[in-house]
Amino acid sequence: MIPAVKLNTGAEMPIVGLGTWRAEQGKVVEAVKVAISAGYRHIDGALVYQNEEEVGAGIRAMIDQGVVKREDLFIVSKLWCTFHLPSLVKGGCEKTLRDLKLDYVDLYLMHFPMGAKPGDNPFPLDEHEQIISDDSNFLDTWEAMEELVDAGLVKAIGISNFNKDQIEALLNKPGLKYKPANNQIECHPYLTQVKLIDYCHSKGISVTAYSPLGSPDRPWASTEEASLLEDPKIKAIADKYNKTPAQVLMRFHTQRNVIVIAKSVTPHRVKENFQLFDFELSKEDMKTMLSLDRNWRGFPMPWATKHKDFPLNTEY
Ligand code: NDP
Repeated sequence: MIPAVKLNTGAEMPIVGLGTWRAEQGKVVEAVKVAISAGYRHIDGALVYQNEEEVGAGIRAMIDQGVVKREDLFIVSKLWCTFHLPSLVKGGCEKTLRDLKLDYVDLYLMHFPMGAKPGDNPFPLDEHEQIISDDSNFLDTWEAMEELVDAGLVKAIGISNFNKDQIEALLNKPGLKYKPANNQIECHPYLTQVKLIDYCHSKGISVTAYSPLGSPDRPWASTEEASLLEDPKIKAIADKYNKTPAQVLMRFHTQRNVIVIAKSVTPHRVKENFQLFDFELSKEDMKTMLSLDRNWRGFPMPWATKHKDFPLNTEY
């Protein structure tokens, strides 16, 4: 049995999932198949990753081969920013379901609190390289997402990249029908998110950690930045347990009751990143990992700093 986190909907969300951002077409079908064969039951995707057709093909192949049933899987997708106007929300979700060839997803997240100008360009930028806003606000977008639950297109809804004030605004929204089930945020030992995680958990909102390995293939990575996978303290802890740095970086989250998703299209790494349940980090090692916090972000979102709903300008 894969450990799971109970959501405020009552559903169980497997604590480890496969990430699919930048999972290239041509490789991702196989990665999904390898993952499901290795025991993964949770796949994290998004419309903006532009590979949901391949992710869906991998899922379908495993269902057709009888390896899993649809109800054994926990599939996550995300509403992209250019679909925030309430009139566009259902269409965004339906595109994802069409591409995945699924009747529903288990969790549908608002990818960012920031709406962007609708249209074919997923990243409409102005002359200052800033995202062009739409007229939406995330409270109205949320209401339209609540309707997706009622229509049976999604089992649960949640948020991603929301700060505490934005979550509070959502929880205090008059007429709120469904509380967010999950907040997906960047989190790893260089950005431990202690306060935001505590806040979410205190409100019954589960947390998913993205970029747990520090997202080494993010296109804007610089060689001068510290690397989590090569951090000597992480390496030393990994050696102690006869595990890899990636495994220790993933296990760090599960011991905080935080769901974790790492991306890989390399079969042996996909399998490696799931071998997390045969060891336990000591309190001391958890403390050491938490002490590496340096408020470093792989996703500082410089393209959104002027947006009214930019989430990273508060303490947490
Ligand atoms: P990760 O921290 O998961 O790092 C992925 C990179 O690490 C890839 O280059 C991968 O290479 C490599 N890698 C994977 N496993 C290992 C291993 N065992 N040893 C060494 N290298 C390894 O970064 P992501 O940013 O992709 O985050 C994970 C997922 O989180 C995303 O894929 C996406 O699903 C989600 N996400 C959500 C965001 C949001 O805004 N909500 C933002 C960013 C990510 P390779 O594939 O070549 O094996």
